[in-house]
Amino acid sequence: MLPQWIIEKKRNGETISDDELADFIGGYVRGDIPDYQMAALAMAIYFRGMTPAEIASLTRVMMQSGDVVDTSAILLPKVDKHSTGGIGDKLSIPLAPLVACCGVAVPMISGRGLGITGGTLDKLESIPGYRTGLQIPEFIKVLQACGCSMIGQTDRLVPADRKLYALRDVTATVPSIPLIVSSIMSKKLAEGIDGLVLDVKCGRGAFMKTRQDARALAEGLVRVGRAMGKRVTVLITAMDQPLGRSVGNALEIMESVDILKGQGPEDSTELTLLLAAEMLFVAGVVTSVEAGLEMVRRKMASGEPFEIFKKMVRLHGGSSEVLDDFRRFPASRFLIDYPAPVGGFVQDVDAEKLGRASVLLGAGRVKTTDTIDHAAGLSNLMKIGEPITAGARLVTLHAATQARVDAALGLVREAFVIGPNHVPAGPLVLERI
Ligand code: URA
Repeated sequence: MLPQWIIEKKRNGETISDDELADFIGGYVRGDIPDYQMAALAMAIYFRGMTPAEIASLTRVMMQSGDVVDTSAILLPKVDKHSTGGIGDKLSIPLAPLVACCGVAVPMISGRGLGITGGTLDKLESIPGYRTGLQIPEFIKVLQACGCSMIGQTDRLVPADRKLYALRDVTATVPSIPLIVSSIMSKKLAEGIDGLVLDVKCGRGAFMKTRQDARALAEGLVRVGRAMGKRVTVLITAMDQPLGRSVGNALEIMESVDILKGQGPEDSTELTLLLAAEMLFVAGVVTSVEAGLEMVRRKMASGEPFEIFKKMVRLHGGSSEVLDDFRRFPASRFLIDYPAPVGGFVQDVDAEKLGRASVLLGAGRVKTTDTIDHAAGLSNLMKIGEPITAGARLVTLHAATQARVDAALGLVREAFVIGPNHVPAGPLVLERI
């Protein structure tokens, strides 16, 4: 069938068959189908949607557009976690070693930050020497040696998504549930995993702003994962205020170390433990999430997960000394404590505004080609519900220049609401699917 006939079918709201999708995506990856026809199909999908069977088929075709990691040499259950991205969401970093020390392998292929949400790879690269670009054989060796490894996409994994995602970015077709589901799941399933825990963020600082949208995405992800024979759990979690007390690359690694040592902020520690317990449940090493929680709490108290993290960092060529002594991390020249204008209680902290502020401080990128400042960002962040006196520190800004601090200050000012009454923070987990 000619590509234009497939586009026409979707434009008219019809269903595209498995073979038609395979031909179209295959032709696009080979370069036989040009960007303009792929863009037209993406737009037709954006408006017409796809049936669950079509989404599963698109995911499979995209996954098979490149290599699928052969993890058969690893005899442990293999489980990963994926987050749709939020401000201060560094949880992949403490999660991987925590779950690895419970007898589950965590092969994690992560992305970079774009816009206001950070990326695990950028955070890890703030550790001097850490190589995110391992080839698959070395990735497998690290997994065998310490149970977890975190790397970036290789050229051979899911080339269809790399090409299609760049096209969607410039053709206003990113926010389409079938396209998001197939993009995320094709990459995760190419890791050679048995199960997956997904953290769909919902709120101002997230891709999905409403519960309805978050639920639609969550259900789409679960459906495709299960259709491909994987055990999948999704948590929809709150992203109205940032997670934890720091935003920025090196700053988030430091918080991750604190979490691993049991000294992290309450919310980021609690969600790390919960997601880890879900991963153990999906892996089948515990029979309930409660039993998983008990196991990960015990492991965290033992100090073992931090040792595994340091081992993984060394195996990736990174310096584990910085993890023992934070003063060795790159530091910003300008460290500015932003004071509370009045006393009372922190009633609101706007994640989106602080995400934008952290980009202006240098911690994020606007274009994929931008370089980032690993030291920049926000730390010592006060959280909703906490009391504060006038003039006390609400947050610390880290930047290389005063001009960057000045650029971010307006957003920081707008992000906090302080009032006379105590307002508790809402629940972290909104739904489990
Ligand atoms: N993240 C992805 O990997 N793909 C999307 O389409 C959206 C978010």
